[in-house]
Amino acid sequence: MPPVFDKPTVEKYDYIVIGGGSGGSGSSRRAASYGKKVAVVEATPYLGGTCVNVGCVPKKIMWHAADLQDRIKHHTSGYKFSGVQNAQFDWASFKPQRDAYIRRLNGIYATNFDKEGVENHQGRAKLIAKDTVEVTRPDGKGTYTLKGDHITIAVGGQPIIPDDKEIPGASLGINSDGFFDLPEQPKRVAVVGAGYIAVELAGIFNALGTETHLLIRGETVLRTFDPTLQEVLTPWMEKIGVNLHKQTKVVKVEGEKGKTLTVHTDKGDKIEVDVLLWAIGRKASTEGMGLEEQGIKLDKKGDVVVDEYQNSSVKNIYAIGDVAGKWLLTPVAIAAGRRLSNRLFGPQDKFKDDHLSYDNIPTVVFSHPPIGTVGQTEPEARKQYGDENVTIYKSSFKSLYFSQVEEEHKEPTVYKLICAGPEEKVVGLHIIGAGSDEVLQGFAVAIKMGATKKQFDDTVAIHPTSGEELVTLR
Ligand code: FAD
Ligand code: NDP
Repeated sequence: MPPVFDKPTVEKYDYIVIGGGSGGSGSSRRAASYGKKVAVVEATPYLGGTCVNVGCVPKKIMWHAADLQDRIKHHTSGYKFSGVQNAQFDWASFKPQRDAYIRRLNGIYATNFDKEGVENHQGRAKLIAKDTVEVTRPDGKGTYTLKGDHITIAVGGQPIIPDDKEIPGASLGINSDGFFDLPEQPKRVAVVGAGYIAVELAGIFNALGTETHLLIRGETVLRTFDPTLQEVLTPWMEKIGVNLHKQTKVVKVEGEKGKTLTVHTDKGDKIEVDVLLWAIGRKASTEGMGLEEQGIKLDKKGDVVVDEYQNSSVKNIYAIGDVAGKWLLTPVAIAAGRRLSNRLFGPQDKFKDDHLSYDNIPTVVFSHPPIGTVGQTEPEARKQYGDENVTIYKSSFKSLYFSQVEEEHKEPTVYKLICAGPEEKVVGLHIIGAGSDEVLQGFAVAIKMGATKKQFDDTVAIHPTSGEELVTLR
């Protein structure tokens, strides 16, 4: 078993990282690779943070299960497979298997720390001086302190749930962490929210056969995304069975956790469900960390204010990942963390200016079908360049896969390019349709390099794929 440290091994570390999630792991390991003395302090026994334990990884596994269920139920008969359409997902036996996989990943994180010389300290960290972290050991076993030349805050965030004073009974609901604890598949669920998590988890429940209600405040889901994506996904979610309650707010929740809950809406509806899941955003885990006491500036939401080099308002203290409040995505946390360590500890001729550029970050929503997006939305591009300088290329089609699938289950695919200026630089790419999650990565490279529409067109298509549409748009 890789060691877990419960006291300092040196008087002063070169680098202390608070939080053993995506950003903390990436940054600490990169620092150790330069021969630095590094300690990570992680509050839980499970390294890997949100992404590994209650985020990307278990979510994507559940998305795969849901996707398989969709194919088995709705696509196999068209392909003349018989006798499989009634196959049922067994949530109760799948969950322990999924959890065991996550525990293996936790172990791999610990082994990597050990191999690379990163000390894994377990306990809750608090900043008690500009160079000193107090660690509270688990199980009431007291505290100790670590001193460091550089300290990075990588404590991520946690889901928001409305206060019971604001919405009586709100605490009867669970959040996305609770989703991963559910031992059995609920028969009926209400999901509140319209962002990534609400769309993804409602999509999983629905595909697996749970009666799913999605309560959104506006007319569409994913309101910050390109309008085309909102316009395609929202009605499609309704078509495939999600009970979408638009312009709806929860005003009261009654019942007993684990039994039937009644969700009262501002429209007078009473929705009876087994589980209510809040997915209305996340907040940084900065409370009680002593940050402001040491002069570290937080914004109104509690995120650590950083400059483009991840520097906080206090010298030699940095913040990366979700706690810095910009693009809450695992690869962003990792990239910012690694670049910070390059800059602080790497060869200065190469890295003295290294930092993450937050432009053109690609992102995927694992909806059904999935969404991929990078760059500006159409309204953003029109605002920046003016209507006369923006050209839109768009194609709606059914992918070849669906040619053999019954009409009502043929999923939509819509691809959209936003180009700016006479050279038609591609400033936005928004795609929805089967495989969009995999199609996006390569196109994100092209856009990061500043590709133009002509360069897209000069690229020979790969046939027959959906992705080829992006290089043949007219
Ligand atoms: P985290 O990974 O959250 O790590 C922070 C760590 O700090 C935690 O381990 C925590 O226990 C620890 N900690 C907190 N306070 C203290 C303290 N005081 N002392 C010591 N340790 C402390 N992103 C994607 O890119 N793709 C996805 O598909 C995706 N899906 C997601 C699905 C869900 C349901 C959720 C919730 C998030 C998802 N994300 C996804 C976002 C992604 O998980 C986060 O952006 C990422 O984990 C942020 O990394 P981080 O290092 O900033 O924080
Ligand atoms: P988001 O910020 O994505 O979405 C939350 C949404 O909930 C808002 O857009 C808002 O939509 C709605 N909302 C906010 N407050 C309320 C309220 N009081 N009542 C009802 N609805 C409300 O947050 P998530 O929690 O979904 O996810 C957090 C972050 O985690 C994401 O931003 C993303 O960065 C990351 N993530 C990434 C994933 C991926 O990469 N695939 C997957 C999951 C999470 P509106 O204004 O329309 O009401």
